[in-house]
Amino acid sequence: MEHVDVAVVGLGALGSATTYQLARRGVDVMGLEQFELGHVRGASHDTSRIVRRAYERPEYVRLADAAYRDWADLQTVTGEHLLTPTGGLTFCPADGPVPASDYLGSLRAVGCDVEELDQAALARRFPAFRVPEDVTAVYDPSSGIVHANRTVATLQLHARVAGAQLRPRCPVSAVDDSAGDGVVLSTAAGPVHASTVVLCTDAWTPKLLAPLGVTVPLRVMQEQVTYFAPDSPADFAPGEFPIWIWQGDFCFYGFPTYGEPTIKAARDVSEVLTDPDARTFVPHPERLEQLRAFMAATVPGSGPALRTVTCQYTLTPDRDFVIDAVPGHPDLLLGLGAAHAFKFTPTFGRVLADLATTGVSDEDLSLFRADRPALTAPALAAAGQA
Ligand SMILES: Cc1cc2nc3c(=O)[nH]c(=O)nc-3n(C[C@H](O)[C@H](O)[C@H](O)COP(=O)(O)OP(=O)(O)OC[C@H]3O[C@@H](n4cnc5c(N)ncnc54)[C@H](O)[C@@H]3O)c2cc1C
Repeated sequence: MEHVDVAVVGLGALGSATTYQLARRGVDVMGLEQFELGHVRGASHDTSRIVRRAYERPEYVRLADAAYRDWADLQTVTGEHLLTPTGGLTFCPADGPVPASDYLGSLRAVGCDVEELDQAALARRFPAFRVPEDVTAVYDPSSGIVHANRTVATLQLHARVAGAQLRPRCPVSAVDDSAGDGVVLSTAAGPVHASTVVLCTDAWTPKLLAPLGVTVPLRVMQEQVTYFAPDSPADFAPGEFPIWIWQGDFCFYGFPTYGEPTIKAARDVSEVLTDPDARTFVPHPERLEQLRAFMAATVPGSGPALRTVTCQYTLTPDRDFVIDAVPGHPDLLLGLGAAHAFKFTPTFGRVLADLATTGVSDEDLSLFRADRPALTAPALAAAGQA
C-alpha cells in the first residue's frame, strides 16, 4: 500500500491551500481530488470573491487580519497578483438583522480605520447607489477582491513545485482509521495510508463521514451570481465603485468591474437546497428576478443581466467554520468554510498544516471546534438537515 505522511482530500481552495502549505514545509503530502483540477462543481471557481475585515464579530475581524498577512505572504512567495483593493460598503437597514453598530464596534475594537456614511456622504462618495434614508453604510477601506480561479491554480502549481503529489480525477470512496494507526483511504487508484488525513471536502463531507458514525449537519445550496452590463462601466470601476454587502432581510452583495465591463451581484444564501452529486446547474428564475429588482432599485445604472453562473454553498447551522479533528478520530482533520471562507484561504492552509504537523495552531480556533453544540446537539443537527 502507498504511504504518505499527510493526505488532503479535496482540492478546492481550502484543500489546495493546505496541500501547498504542507509541501512548502517539506512534508510528504498527497492531494486527492475527485474531479479535474479547477472544476466548476464545488465552491471555489469563477473569478472574484470578496475579501473584507467587516464582520460583526471581533474573532472574524482578527482572523481576517491574519488572512491579509497570509495573502501578502502568498503573493510575495509566488509572485502572483491575487488581491485587488477596492474598499467595501456594508449597508445596514435600520430594521435589518445586524445593526451597523456591530460592524463599527468589532472593526474599531481591532483598530480598523472604518467610516460610517449617512445618505448624503454616500451620495457624494459613491453616487451609483440609491438607498433609503434609514440605511447606514459602513465603509472599510481595506476590503477588496481576490481572484478565485487564479488563487486555486497558483496554490496547486506551487504545491506541486514544492513536491506535493496531486491526484486529480481520483475520488476517495472511504476513510478508515479503525486500526488506530493513521488512516487508510480507498481511492480510485488503490488504497493510500496516511499518518494524518485532512478532509477539505466541503459539501461532500457528510458522505465520507457517515460510515464512521459521524453526522455533520450541513445544508448544501445551489447559489447563483449574475453579471450585469452597465451602460457606463467606467462609473463602476474599482476606485469609483466598491465591493458591497446589503445586510437586510435578504442579503445581497456585489462587485465593481473586474477583468470585463460587467458588474457581478448575487443574493447570499439562496435556500435552493441541493445534493452536490445531483445539482441542476440551472439558475433559479425567481432568485434572478428578485436580484434584478433589487439592483434596479439600489444600483440603477447596473444595466441588464447578461449571464448567471451557479455555484455551491455548504452551511453549518451557525455559519461558523470547522477547523478541528473529527471528534473521536484524532488522525482525521476537517476544514469547512461555511460558505464564506475564500477570503481566509491561505489562513485555512496554514492552520490546517499546523494542526496536521504539530497538533496546535497559533490562531484562536475555539469558535471552530467540531464538538460545539451547534454541530452536535441533536435538535440543531435535525434542523440543519431539514
Ligand atoms: C457563489 C459563491 C460566492 C462566494 N463568495 C464568497 C466571497 O465573496 N468571499 C468569501 O470569502 N467566500 C465566498 N464564498 C465561499 C467560498 O468560495 C467557499 O467557502 C470556499 O470556496 C470553499 O472552498 P472548499 O475548498 O472548502 O470547497 P470546494 O471548492 O467545494 O472544494 C471541495 C473539493 O473537495 C472535492 N471532494 C469532495 N469529496 C471528495 C472525495 N470523496 N474525493 C476526492 N475529492 C473530493 C470536491 O470535488 C471539491 O473540489 C462564495 C461561494 C460561492 C459558491
